[in-house]
Amino acid sequence: MAKQVVTRFAPSPTGYLHIGSARTALFSWAYARHHQGKMLLRIEDTDRERSTNAAVQAIFDGLTWLGLNWDDEPIMQFSRAERHAEVARELLARGQAYYCYCSPEELAQMREEARAAGRPPRYDGRWRDRDPSEAPAGVAPVIRIKAPQEGEIVVDDHVQGKVVFKAENLDDFIILRSDGTPTYMLAVVVDDHDMDVTHIIRGDDHLTNAARQIVIYNGMGWDVPEMAHIPLIHGPDGAKLSKRHGALGVAAYRQMGYLPEAMINYLARLGWSRGDAEIFSVDQLVDWFSLEDLNKGAARFDFVKLESINGHYIREAAPQRLYEVMLETATEVGRDIDAAGLAANKDTVLAALPELQPRAKTVLELVDLAQFIYAMRPLSIDAAAAEQLTVDARAHIAEFAKIVRGLDDWSVPAIDAAARAFAEQKGLKLGKIAQPLRAALTGRTISPGIFEVMVLIGKEETLARLSDQTGLS
Ligand code: GLU
Repeated sequence: MAKQVVTRFAPSPTGYLHIGSARTALFSWAYARHHQGKMLLRIEDTDRERSTNAAVQAIFDGLTWLGLNWDDEPIMQFSRAERHAEVARELLARGQAYYCYCSPEELAQMREEARAAGRPPRYDGRWRDRDPSEAPAGVAPVIRIKAPQEGEIVVDDHVQGKVVFKAENLDDFIILRSDGTPTYMLAVVVDDHDMDVTHIIRGDDHLTNAARQIVIYNGMGWDVPEMAHIPLIHGPDGAKLSKRHGALGVAAYRQMGYLPEAMINYLARLGWSRGDAEIFSVDQLVDWFSLEDLNKGAARFDFVKLESINGHYIREAAPQRLYEVMLETATEVGRDIDAAGLAANKDTVLAALPELQPRAKTVLELVDLAQFIYAMRPLSIDAAAAEQLTVDARAHIAEFAKIVRGLDDWSVPAIDAAARAFAEQKGLKLGKIAQPLRAALTGRTISPGIFEVMVLIGKEETLARLSDQTGLS
C-alpha cells in the first residue's frame, strides 16, 4: 500500500500570518486533501526572542478563517528541543557529526581569510578529524554535521526540477549549539522525520536549506521527503511584495472585506493553475490540485483581480451569511454606527441584500451601500449626489412627493408606474427623476433601484427624507 501523504505547514510565529505563508499553507493543505492524507501544523517557535503567543493565535485564526483545517494537535517545535539534541548525539555516535571547539576568535579569523580571498565564509572543518583528546579544557563544544566534501547534493524538486549544489559550497554547519540547543536546520529535519512528513511544500527561499537538510537526512539514514519549493509572490511591478501591494496579514484581508472563499480562489491562482480556470470552488481545487501544476515563475499580486473574484463570491453568497459577515466586519473595524444600524435593521438589510450584492466588491462596500437603510435624518449628502439636487430637481421631487403621498399601494410596480407617468407628464426622461430621488433618499449616486429603496425604507421615511431636501413637509 502506498504511504499516506503527510504534508505540514511550519510557520514561525514572529508576526501576523503573512499572505504568502497562507498560500503555502493552502498548497500543503490542498495536496494533503487531494490524496486523502494529513496536513500537520508545526509552530516553529525556537526563536524565543521573536516568537509571541499573539502570533501563534494569528496563525490559528488565519488558517481557521480560510478553512484550512489541520490534522492532529499542532506541534510546538521548541518543546521538542531534547529530541533534537538526542538526534545530534546519535549523529555523533554514527560518526556523521563531531564536536567542534573553535573559539569565536578562530571563527572570525576564518571569515576574515575567506573574505580576503573572495570566498564565501565557510567553516574549514578543522575539528572534523581531530581526536577528542585534543579538546581544550573548559570549552563547551558545538556539534557540527559532517557534510560531504566532494560531489553534489541534488534537490529533486517538484517545482524547480533537479537543483544541484556542489558539496564544496556547503560547510560542516552547526546542528547543536554549545548551550545544547538545536539549530533550526536540525530541528526542521528531526520534526519532519518524526512527523512522518512525506511532502514538504514551502517557499523557494528555503531551497538552499533543503540541500543542508538532505545532509542531515543522509547522516541519519532517513528517507528524504518529496519537496516542492514554490516561487514567492511579487508585487504587480515584479519587485518584492510591499505592504502597499498586498504584503499584509490574513486578518487585514478579512478586515478589508474579502470573503475566505475568494481568498482561497485567488491565492490558489497565484502560483498554480489548471487550464484557464479562474473561478473555482475549494472542492474543485482539492479535486484538481497537483504539484505539477505549480508555476515555476514568480506570481504577481494583483488587487484588481482579487477584488473581481471577491465580487463574484459576494454575488453568490447567501444574504443571511453576508449579513453576519457585514456585522462582524463593521464591529471588528470599529464602525460602531454601522454595526448598530445593521443590528437594529436586520430584516431590512436582508431584504435589501440581493439588490446590494451585484454592486459591491468587498464586504465593506456592502456595509457602505446598506447605510441608506439606517442613515439618520437629515441625511448627509455626498458631493456627487449634491450635484443632482439642482433647483429644478428639488422642485420635481417636491411635486413627485405629493403624488407618492397619495399612493395606497406601496410596491415597486406602483411607485415605478407613478414615476413614469410623472416623468412623461413633465416631458422628462425617467432618469431625471430617479437620480435626484436617489440623491435625496440615500445621499449617494449609487444605490439599489430607487423604487426598491423606497419600499425598503417605507413610505413614511421616504416622505420625510424627501421633505428634508425640498424644505416641504
Ligand atoms: N518556519 C519556516 C518559515 O516560516 C518554514 C520552514 C519550513 O517550511 O521548512 O519560513
